[in-house]
Amino acid sequence: MEKKNSSDNHSNDESKTTDFRAGFISIVGAPNVGKSTFLNRVMEGHFAIVTDKPQTTRTVIRAIKNLDNAQMIFIDTPGLHTSQKAFNKILIQSALNACKESDVVLALISAEKIHHEETEFLLTFLRDIRQTPLVLAINKIDKLELPDTTEISKDFSSLPNIKGVYPISALLGSGIDPLLKTLAELLPKSPPLFPPDMETDMTERFFASEIIREKIFLLTKDEIPYEIAVEIDQFKEDKEKNMLVITAIIHVNRPSQKRIIIGKDGDLIKKIGMAARKDLEEFFHIHVYLDLWVRVNKNWMKNPRMLREFGIITR
Ligand code: GDP
Ligand code: MG
Repeated sequence: MEKKNSSDNHSNDESKTTDFRAGFISIVGAPNVGKSTFLNRVMEGHFAIVTDKPQTTRTVIRAIKNLDNAQMIFIDTPGLHTSQKAFNKILIQSALNACKESDVVLALISAEKIHHEETEFLLTFLRDIRQTPLVLAINKIDKLELPDTTEISKDFSSLPNIKGVYPISALLGSGIDPLLKTLAELLPKSPPLFPPDMETDMTERFFASEIIREKIFLLTKDEIPYEIAVEIDQFKEDKEKNMLVITAIIHVNRPSQKRIIIGKDGDLIKKIGMAARKDLEEFFHIHVYLDLWVRVNKNWMKNPRMLREFGIITR
């Protein structure tokens, strides 16, 4: 970088660095409230996978938004489910940890579900996070004819750390700018924490596994519960053939799930592979050879080593 000696320039540079803010923002909310859509909107691209099925984002995803005066590092937490199952408790704990360790919490609710148990559940969850500044976004405001959010604001304004309530439509992009401004102002003064040209710290392998997982969700309907993990076993470029060779293992809990994913005469796994390959080629801008395997791995969800390996828990 060019260095200038003029004292004027020097003081300008200094005020720029001291006013800069940077930090972590956790996004929390029930499945399907639009967390990934919001993240994609903010990032103006596809960083998290969006589907019309709940709970596809189990892993903590970071996206880094660089503004002139702030660097916002977003963490997409697992969707908050009310289920009492052990696996769900791990997810909730993971979301709670993410919130406690971040600088700001962005809670998302759906405008359609203002009087809904999932909003109640979120309120209860948020009561456990008192130290971190909190902002509420009421998403899908485009679905209401006469948006009236006063009542819900009342419920959330009882939380001691609430800093603002913003009606938004992540899908249409309305209300996003003022929300981002507030979020940036709540971050601590700090120089950027990541290189400014970095948009996410997730690896290519991670994106590949998310793309394959999304196709499984889309093609298996409700038959397959959220009990699969996709492990990328091989990810390498074949320079001679100018293609990417990816081998992935789909871990399932039970033999019956393996049968469903493979399908009659291997029909379904073929469809999953074809759809995934198409997206992978678009994503990586290169021909892809994709090899999919299904492995029954009983109770993988109770195995901390595997949970860590699949990125579902971070410690
Ligand atoms: P997540 O589970 O919280 O990550 O939710 P997603 O971002 O995957 O969104 C779930 C569904 O809600 C998708 O079908 C989105 O298109 C839809 N959605 C998200 N935001 C909005 C919005 O502002 N308005 C409308 N009408 N739909 C939305
Ligand atoms: Mg999501």
